Amino acid sequence: MATTIKGKAFAAGLRERVTAVVAELVTHHGLRPGLAVVLVGEDPASQVYVRNKGRQTMEAGMESIEHRLPASTREEDLLALIHRLNDDPAVHGILVQLPLPGHIDESKVINAISVHKDIDGFHIENVGKLSIGEESLVPCTPSGCVMLLKDQLGDLTGKSAVVVGRSNIVGKPVAMLLLKEHCTVTIAHSRTRDLAAVCREADILVAAVGVPEMVKGDWIKPGATVIDVGINRIDGGDGKTRLVGDVDYAGASEAAGAITPVPGGVGPMTIACLLRNTVIAACRQHGIPVPDGLQG
Ligand code: NDP
Repeated sequence: MATTIKGKAFAAGLRERVTAVVAELVTHHGLRPGLAVVLVGEDPASQVYVRNKGRQTMEAGMESIEHRLPASTREEDLLALIHRLNDDPAVHGILVQLPLPGHIDESKVINAISVHKDIDGFHIENVGKLSIGEESLVPCTPSGCVMLLKDQLGDLTGKSAVVVGRSNIVGKPVAMLLLKEHCTVTIAHSRTRDLAAVCREADILVAAVGVPEMVKGDWIKPGATVIDVGINRIDGGDGKTRLVGDVDYAGASEAAGAITPVPGGVGPMTIACLLRNTVIAACRQHGIPVPDGLQG
């Protein structure tokens, strides 16, 4: 049976390190990192995420600034808010909760965020820097995946990695980070032929598709490490819903060497990495070297 990769515990440890660094920044530099989160509309899932982000930001000793705007907000008003936050020295990180209402151009909004405050790492300049291997702000869920892999496996050099999913927010940046770790990377997607056979080649398999339990146990190379990014709510059969990943956990656990559970695997890493990115951004904006405790 596979070892369970305890993302929840790892994320708690990372948040503790972030909290310790924040305390040092406040004491020695008079710098309290600030994270501004902008939510447009009333999407219930987004409201939960924003609430959790705000709570964990404050628990880490940082400043949490929330802007909740109605779904009818005009694009130009949202852009004006982003420009104000870009200019605000108390704000070191800006996150615009996605998705945005249909009348707002998401990429225009993301690219209006200062590249130095883009703690989601979605700004086109940060995407470009990641792809050419320059220092940048790196997307949070992908960072979390690679941290868990390095914690589990140590050096990833030479490993065969298959990433299923090619979205800009998960699949592509995970692939870039694995390439940076010297893996041999294959990116698979909905047009990939014989996906099962492609997955069976993987020492490291990252599933980020958004299809409940799509990756089956017999797709897993014996002993492989499986990172399940998926978060899918399905009918639990008892009148309630339950969360499952993109991997059939029970089947995959028979073959894998190690696997992340859902929930409690990759999920908790996302906010922990967001806090980490905010502190890294604050340090860089003030010319302070990023403390060792926050290195990847
Ligand atoms: P997207 O819908 O943006 O992308 C899904 C990708 O999966 C696409 O590249 C798509 O291929 C591919 N895909 C879809 N169906 C298949 C299939 N049958 N076979 C092979 N490939 C397929 O999703 P995201 O990347 O945003 O999210 C992926 C999952 O990760 C979701 O479950 C989401 O909830 C979860 N997630 C979790 C986070 C966390 O904090 N843990 C954060 C973000 C996402 P194509 O490009 O060809 O259409």
